[in-house]
Amino acid sequence: MPDSAGVRAFPTDDSLCERCGYPLRGLPIEADCPECGQAVAESSPAKRGEYGNPKSGWWIAAMQVSVMMFFAPRRLYRGLSIQGGNAMARSYLAGIALACGLAWGFLWGPIIENEVFATHAMLGACLAIVGMTYIEMLGVTAFSRRRGWRVPLCLAERVCCLAAAGWMPGVLIAGIGLLVLSAFAAGEPWFERFLGLVRVSWICYGGLFVLSLLWFETLVWLGVRQVRYANSWPDSGHEA
Ligand SMILES: [Zn+2]
Repeated sequence: MPDSAGVRAFPTDDSLCERCGYPLRGLPIEADCPECGQAVAESSPAKRGEYGNPKSGWWIAAMQVSVMMFFAPRRLYRGLSIQGGNAMARSYLAGIALACGLAWGFLWGPIIENEVFATHAMLGACLAIVGMTYIEMLGVTAFSRRRGWRVPLCLAERVCCLAAAGWMPGVLIAGIGLLVLSAFAAGEPWFERFLGLVRVSWICYGGLFVLSLLWFETLVWLGVRQVRYANSWPDSGHEA
């Protein structure tokens, strides 16, 4: 709440230390967290809102997110506004899914030599990326509830949509890996051999799938760690 001087009070009754989750209620803003020593002021919501903010223009915000996701993902999530709507994050995911679909089409188009099938592959890649991102955010929400972290569905959605930047390298890893396997391994006797109950080819394809997920999963994990105890202004649930 803004007080008479227009300055908002922090910490409030439900404020937590952003680093360790210690309740900051009653501490002066000049103090340090008794648990981990981080300055109380560092956990103020005023420290957030620097990145991914639609007010700076969506294209600029999206470019900023893409660059920072590769060079400083922690700093981006540390400064991420956790209030307002998710329109920017959703359009960012849509843009990434589209770009990944096109990249997939370019990788596979020349060898598929079937336009209908290539179009389906592009569409499939787009939908798979959106689908996996939303499955991830349900998982993050459930996991956070169990751990007592403050990551409700709307915040998990924001974290995961922005982490979609990690699908770009993921698609390249999967695409190039599949091209290599189809060129050098497919049809070879060793590739179709069974090791116990599983084929060598299944292990290769499965490993490639896991490898292509890793980048996205890592960004989600880094993001959740930076927002799990984040504080918001009590009166600004509807702020843009
Ligand atoms: Zn602390």
